[in-house]
Amino acid sequence: RPISGGMLEVGKLSKAFGGNQALRDVSLRAEPGKITALIGPNGSGKTTLLNLVCGFYRRDSGSITVAGASIATASSDRIARLGIARTFQTPLIPPGITVREVVISGRYTADRAGFLSAVLRSPHFRRVRERDLQRATEILRLTGLIHLADSEAVALPLGMRRMLEVARALIREPKVLLLDEAASGLDENEVRTLASVVRQIRDAGCTVVLVEHNFDLVLALADRIVVLARGGVLAEGTPAEIEANVRVRDEYLGV
Ligand code: ADP
Repeated sequence: RPISGGMLEVGKLSKAFGGNQALRDVSLRAEPGKITALIGPNGSGKTTLLNLVCGFYRRDSGSITVAGASIATASSDRIARLGIARTFQTPLIPPGITVREVVISGRYTADRAGFLSAVLRSPHFRRVRERDLQRATEILRLTGLIHLADSEAVALPLGMRRMLEVARALIREPKVLLLDEAASGLDENEVRTLASVVRQIRDAGCTVVLVEHNFDLVLALADRIVVLARGGVLAEGTPAEIEANVRVRDEYLGV
């Protein structure tokens, strides 16, 4: 179903940890209905940027807007309610919870799955659950996890837990979806499934931001690529432009 995506814009964003300038005057935009990949060497500031956008960290200076509205000082709960969802590199899933329950819990926990068991045990959760079952089933079909719906989530292989992270984010029907290394640890088939799911989310109108090490996947999937290096934007362009960029080759690919 169509999603009304929102333009994500970051302007002159800076963040330091002690004396370590993780981001310096970073400006970029991610458009609705487009996949924007964020790449760069380890320590270049990609995760910090995601954490600022979803309100886990506070910026030192600069702007962050979604569909024109500032979220730079909003709480992570508020940002989640505004339709910005993210996945985590290392999904935390408590034992004793099925794949379907994890997806449904995505409705209620924007945060890392830490609150998940508490949420699942609450009377509120049981009441609303029926309403969400159908939506969860759709998302489990889309992500190829439907045959595992009643399996214990924590027992899944890593690749499927990563896909489950994506599914958990999708149940919120996000305007902006931030994917943190969603493909790492996935085998070729799983990467293909992930790529197809991400394309469908994009085509539904969502603003997709992809932080990803797999350069081939980025080239195949991204509409725009932003390259970070040492906390700044090194280059920005289409996959073809980035692939041909000599500075990117030197900095990022090391060739
Ligand atoms: P990337 O995701 O591109 O690998 P990060 O955003 O994780 O880069 O890190 C950018 C810089 O910020 C690094 O020097 C890292 O050590 C530092 N950094 C990130 N998060 C924290 C934190 N919570 N506390 C202190 N330093 C941090």
